[in-house]
Formats: sequence, C-alpha cells, structure tokens
Amino acid sequence: MSEAPVFCANHPNRETSLRCNRCGKPICSSCAILTPVGYRCKECVRNQQAGFDTAKWIDYPIALVTTGVGVGIAITFLNYLSFWGFLVAPVVGGGLAEVIHRLIGRRRSRSIPKAIIIGGTLGVLPHIIPILVTLVQSLRGGTDPGLLASMALSAILPVAYGFLMITTLYYRFRGIRV
Ligand SMILES: [Zn+2]
Ligand SMILES: [Zn+2]
Repeated sequence: MSEAPVFCANHPNRETSLRCNRCGKPICSSCAILTPVGYRCKECVRNQQAGFDTAKWIDYPIALVTTGVGVGIAITFLNYLSFWGFLVAPVVGGGLAEVIHRLIGRRRSRSIPKAIIIGGTLGVLPHIIPILVTLVQSLRGGTDPGLLASMALSAILPVAYGFLMITTLYYRFRGIRV
C-alpha cells in the first residue's frame, strides 16, 4: 500500500512529507520555517508577521529618543539618591513605558524593544564615559586605591540604574514572537 507522493508547493520536483501546519500546503525542508508552533510555509509566517507588526516607521525613533532622553535625565536625578535609586529606577522605567505607550498608541512591533535597548544604552553612555576617561587617566598617574574604588562605584551606579530602567521598559514592550 503506497500513498501518492506529495511534492513541495514551491519545488514541484522535490518530494516531501512536511506540511505547513497552518494552511496545509506541502513544503520541502528548505521551504519550511520552524516556528514555536511547528513548521510553517514562508507565506503564512510572513502574513502572520504583517498582522502583528502594526508599528509605523516613526515609532522606532520615538521609542529610541524617548528612552534615551528619559534614561539620560533620570540617571542625573537618580545619582543623588545613591542606593535608593535602585528602588526608584524601575518606577521611572515604568513611567517611561507609559509615555512611549501614549506616543505610539497601541501599535506593536518586535523592533520596538530593540529601539528601547539602543536608546537606553545611548542614554547611559554620557554618564559613564567621563568617569571612565578620568579613571583611565588616574590609573596612569597612580592614584590611591580608595579614590579609584569610589570612582568605579560612581560609574557602576548609572549603569545599574540604566539597566533597571531598560529592562523594565523592555519587558513592557517585548511583545510578539512568531
Ligand atoms: Zn502555510
Ligand atoms: Zn520547497
């Protein structure tokens, strides 16, 4: 008892036993895309992404700039709070997420979290680059270890605040996986 051979919808000469689990179309191994819900054809994956990705191009710069400026300004204030800043940073991150949410509405995209990470990193950099430059300069000059340690700490705090804010934002916007 042999079943009739099935051929890939895109490659009529390739016999296959795989089928797209959404539309049922036969697909060969080079046409199949493994998704968390099983093998799918390229068309179904593309259609699904188009349905999920509702963002407009302007949403990426909005998310990037709002995160960068927000994180940058927030670190300036959080620095005064020292270790209490660790408690406040996630709250600030949540506030920024709210602002971005208002600006871009309900539109979603897989690229927004990337824009948030890039923007957030750019917001942190101005706070740590001057410290790192000073640190390297005093290492050459042989400054006492206590001073070096306190300078290193002053570089770690902005990074930690930034990290807390960015991760809070990231998880708010980490939407869709196909
Ligand atoms: Zn399909
Ligand atoms: Zn094929």
